Amino acid sequence: MTQCDVLVVGAGPAGIAAATAAAISGRRVLLLDENPAPGGQIWRVGQPMPKGQAEGQTAKNQAIARLCACGASCLFGYSVYDAPSAGELRAICESGEAAAGPVPGDPHIVGLRYEKLILATGARERFLPFPGWTLPGVFGPGGLQALVKGGFNVAGQRIVVAGSGPLLLAVAAHLRGYGANVVCVAEQAPLAKMLPFAASLWSHPARILQGIQYRAALGTAPFHLGCWPVAALADEVSGKLTGVRLTNGKRTWTQHCDLLACGFHLVPNIELASLLGCAIQDGFVKVDHQQRTSLAHVYCAGEPTGIGGLGAALVQGEIAGLASAGKPTDSLQGRRLAERKFALKLEAAFRIRPELRSLARPDTLVCRCEDIPYAALEKRSGWIDAKLQTRCGMGPCQGRICGAATETLFGWKQTSVRPPLMPVPVSALVYPGLQPVSLKEHL
Ligand SMILES: Cc1cc2nc3c(=O)[nH]c(=O)nc-3n(C[C@H](O)[C@H](O)[C@H](O)COP(=O)(O)OP(=O)(O)OC[C@H]3O[C@@H](n4cnc5c(N)ncnc54)[C@H](O)[C@@H]3O)c2cc1C
Repeated sequence: MTQCDVLVVGAGPAGIAAATAAAISGRRVLLLDENPAPGGQIWRVGQPMPKGQAEGQTAKNQAIARLCACGASCLFGYSVYDAPSAGELRAICESGEAAAGPVPGDPHIVGLRYEKLILATGARERFLPFPGWTLPGVFGPGGLQALVKGGFNVAGQRIVVAGSGPLLLAVAAHLRGYGANVVCVAEQAPLAKMLPFAASLWSHPARILQGIQYRAALGTAPFHLGCWPVAALADEVSGKLTGVRLTNGKRTWTQHCDLLACGFHLVPNIELASLLGCAIQDGFVKVDHQQRTSLAHVYCAGEPTGIGGLGAALVQGEIAGLASAGKPTDSLQGRRLAERKFALKLEAAFRIRPELRSLARPDTLVCRCEDIPYAALEKRSGWIDAKLQTRCGMGPCQGRICGAATETLFGWKQTSVRPPLMPVPVSALVYPGLQPVSLKEHL
């Protein structure tokens, strides 16, 4: 059993900022993440960023350097899957090499005891079902970007980037930087919502500049507003993606492509907070100005409290780290408020349009883990009924993809979260314990 004063789950920007602030304040901190290295989604380790797009790199390097120097311990490659008792979490590493466990290849389980817990579990992409969305060659924009950072070659590939959210433009620009031929970007939000959003950014000049840089990186590729995919098309013989049918509500056309990157903004990862019993409000973890949840010893920072981007994650993480160590956070409250306002603007601008709820045909898969089509779900009365009658949401992703989709399609809420948070081997019921290493040693 590993003990610490402050346990931080999630080593994205929010978790890194939280761990650093708490450790500098003199607390014994353990930072844990299921990825093999710190950075989260935006600072994912991988291929160097394309030329001219490494602007986030400096911020990342500074944050990692501060983390290295602050004395926090770390465990990477471990996923938290259970909270068996108050003040205790359990995490599993399924790679024997990373866990340095006694038997290479065996999963390694560690028990973690904490006085204060900071949840910085980030967000994932939202996928909405439309005919062809499960074809090979269709990715989430962030997922494709992660693959490319991991070495997947997109040079010369014709790519359509579609869906919703600021991630589309960022990913499209990155893909261009890696040599892809981005043929167009299709954003479902209409001009009528984008104009006020753009105008409201006058107080965020850095964000305006970043948007302009991303758009410039796209060159002459069109950026369609109020435009969404209705079907992904494949060659009947090879099954290979050949294009995507796009519509603007008035006109529908085929855009030929080799890859489609499609995702509809982000969904917060609130499963662990829900399992612990933290109050959830409008789909997000409810926190006060100190990032404290409804449980006095549990804090939450970053995307689970509202989709707000990097700036929000950093300031909320720092506040959570300081507050967990009993330090004042007054000097950060102005930034926190400004980022909160930005998150609300994002939410309003990229709200899902009603047309996207009727793209699925009766045979379109909604739960791709368990092969459950739309027709099997539309007669169900809610999430639990759908699980019991069809096995929707009971596959490896445990409803992380279809849960968000059915919420948008049918308004179903996922009412309960039970351990384990992800499928784990039976051996996860018995565990020996493990000592974390210092971050310097790890890197
Ligand atoms: C796929 C994807 C790609 C993105 N790419 C960009 C981009 O290119 N540019 C941009 O501006 N923004 C991007 N974003 C948005 C970006 O994630 C946010 O703006 C912000 O950086 C979030 O920081 P965070 O620390 O809250 O969360 P994250 O960076 O998401 O970090 C959360 C961390 O928690 C870990 N975690 C979650 N649950 C567990 C668990 N049970 N056990 C152990 N670890 C756990 C995850 O592995 C992850 O490392 C992306 C988002 C996603 C989902």
